[in-house]
Amino acid sequence: MANEHRVTLIPGDGTGPELVETVKAVLAGIGATIHWDEVVAGESAMATFGTPLPENVLESVRKNKVALKGPITTPIGTGFRSVNVALRKELSLFACLRPCKSFRGVKSRYSGIDLVFVRENTEDLYAGVEFPNSSKEAQQIIAWGKGKIFPDAGISIKPISKTGTERVARYAFEYAVKNKRKKVTASTKANIMKVTDGLFYEVCREVSKEYPTIQYEERLVDNLCMQLVVKPELYDVLLFPNLYGDILSDLGAGLIGGLGIAPGANMGNGIALFEAVHGSAPKYKGLNKVNPTALLLSAKLMLDYLGESSIASKLEQAIEAVIAEGTHTTYDLGGKAGTKEMGQAIVARFKKLA
Ligand code: NAD
Repeated sequence: MANEHRVTLIPGDGTGPELVETVKAVLAGIGATIHWDEVVAGESAMATFGTPLPENVLESVRKNKVALKGPITTPIGTGFRSVNVALRKELSLFACLRPCKSFRGVKSRYSGIDLVFVRENTEDLYAGVEFPNSSKEAQQIIAWGKGKIFPDAGISIKPISKTGTERVARYAFEYAVKNKRKKVTASTKANIMKVTDGLFYEVCREVSKEYPTIQYEERLVDNLCMQLVVKPELYDVLLFPNLYGDILSDLGAGLIGGLGIAPGANMGNGIALFEAVHGSAPKYKGLNKVNPTALLLSAKLMLDYLGESSIASKLEQAIEAVIAEGTHTTYDLGGKAGTKEMGQAIVARFKKLA
């Protein structure tokens, strides 16, 4: 019998609310007793509260210490900054965990993929220190650059600190030990960005010495892109600064057959927010069409985190079985089922498991 838990629920934008409804129904159907504190962030909050990230959202996550979130739309170029990035920063969710595991029945160029992407979540070019071209600050930096920067450049600052790197590196090694993984590969462009990416490597190397049972190596990120496509079996846990981790984890989703099945978690000290890798897929909003698996697998990571590992592993088995059977899957997996119907099939399969 499962324990009761209180969790903040952020439905998000686009297809987020329908995905979240399905996940709620599945968790209720499989006997996970979760009391949801539902709060609104993103475009929908903008309309009601005049801000995409109302204070009550942060308060709720800080109080419950665990949250499940649907994807949130970020306008490109204009409008508000990313709520996803702001949440990670405000709540010090410094490590982003994205496991990428092949499922039987998913059409993909690859099989047997079992990689874990760990991404630093709060600094790097995502720190939000940016100056538009022709601003006073951009002009000052351009002057410091002594001819290295065109005078009409916009500037984004890339901070990478010992503090930020040390905590995410420790998270990656701890994860490797707990989950019986063999190797951590750190990846950056340290040959070019010596003072930031170079520091990232330096700190990872230091932290690695505390974990003698885990092999540690470094790969330049351009080379790693090629190698992940050609020889993914060479890798195990991958550790990145923010920007490379964001891009490479989508590559990971591609290796296992798409964003519809790629889950994620944002981890801090004693606080965690679970969400799929994919975005709000706004063109499918309200169509009951997109795949709930990525958010369900994120919920599976959440159940593990809450200490409900028995329900969590049965949920994964049920998802795996429904995908392998292929009769109740969504369009991206070649099926004709809607979001809701795939969720219902997963609950039915769960109930058949011993
Ligand atoms: P997206 O992930 O929303 O969609 C890209 C494509 O992937 C979709 O058109 C669809 O074909 C496919 N896809 C995505 N999720 C799927 C699912 N569950 N099932 C089946 N197919 C799926 O990426 P995008 O179009 O670049 O971004 C849309 C919005 O989402 C943007 O505003 C972006 O900023 C935001 N976004 C949010 C998050 C987040 O909330 N963490 C993450 C990424 C993007």
